[in-house]
Amino acid sequence: ATPTAIMVGTGRGAEMGILIKGGEALEMTHRGDIVVFDKTGTITEGKPVVTDVLSHNIDEGEMIQLLGSLEGHSEHPLGEAVVEHLKEKGKAVLPVEEFHSITGKGIEGRVAGRRVAAGNIRLLEDMKVGAELIDEIHALADEGKTPVMVVIDGQFAGVVGIADTLKENSIEAVKVLKGMGLRVAMITGDNSKTAHAIARKAGIDEVLAEVLPEGKAVEVKRLQEEGSRVIMVGDGINDAPALAQADIGVAIGNGTDIAIESAEVVLMKNDITDVARAIELSHATMRNIK
Ligand code: ADP
Ligand code: MG
Repeated sequence: ATPTAIMVGTGRGAEMGILIKGGEALEMTHRGDIVVFDKTGTITEGKPVVTDVLSHNIDEGEMIQLLGSLEGHSEHPLGEAVVEHLKEKGKAVLPVEEFHSITGKGIEGRVAGRRVAAGNIRLLEDMKVGAELIDEIHALADEGKTPVMVVIDGQFAGVVGIADTLKENSIEAVKVLKGMGLRVAMITGDNSKTAHAIARKAGIDEVLAEVLPEGKAVEVKRLQEEGSRVIMVGDGINDAPALAQADIGVAIGNGTDIAIESAEVVLMKNDITDVARAIELSHATMRNIK
């Protein structure tokens, strides 16, 4: 495209709240053939809330107090949900020592002298702790909730169901992109059942679940090696390498700084239906100059 066409195109994007970093990005955007959305904070609001608490061989309030105190040291949205729940219950936060997070699996630490861990099934497997309440865990996941399993002093102690709602525009955004003939996929570190339930609600049929943080960029690369041109849409620190790897990285404007820096396109209105508008704008720019 000519410099003038690029200037007009990026200018029109800016007016729509779509920040396009440079001519190459504007030219490339319409050439994507698969759009990969991150789940938490991109397809969903990213503001999860505790909906279910099921304890096992321990008082429910005690379990929540130990878990909530530990989660106070986590930066994960799941942790914030549990902390909020603990506050609502009016329980005191207990002192925590030796806190650490286990990438892609959960967290661990010592709370008021007891060893507490929380996370997904892979964490239980690592710790060689057998899961109880299996039917309940599956039921939570089938509803699109994330089950957080709790281990106290080496024993399975319960599960907390955490729900995150779809963004208002997710269904529309997916529908429009599919209507344009694009493949639409969702990628997440969350478990497969939960991911599929949320994807189904959004109208997405391709799901990449249980992906470790470093794995998102690997999955994007794999799609590229299959011959796809990938538009990756994300908001988190976890998404930054995948945004950089993609043919076009699209960051949500209220996402983390590193995601915004790694992307070529930024959605300033935080509206994922603008992915389709960015593609249309790219099309229009290329048509005008031919
Ligand atoms: P994502 O951002 O997709 O959730 P992460 O790698 O951050 O990916 O987390 C992967 C999984 O590890 C989560 O889906 C959850 O099951 C577990 N996990 C991570 N942090 C926590 C936490 N603070 N509390 C409970 N579970 C956690
Ligand atoms: Mg996210």
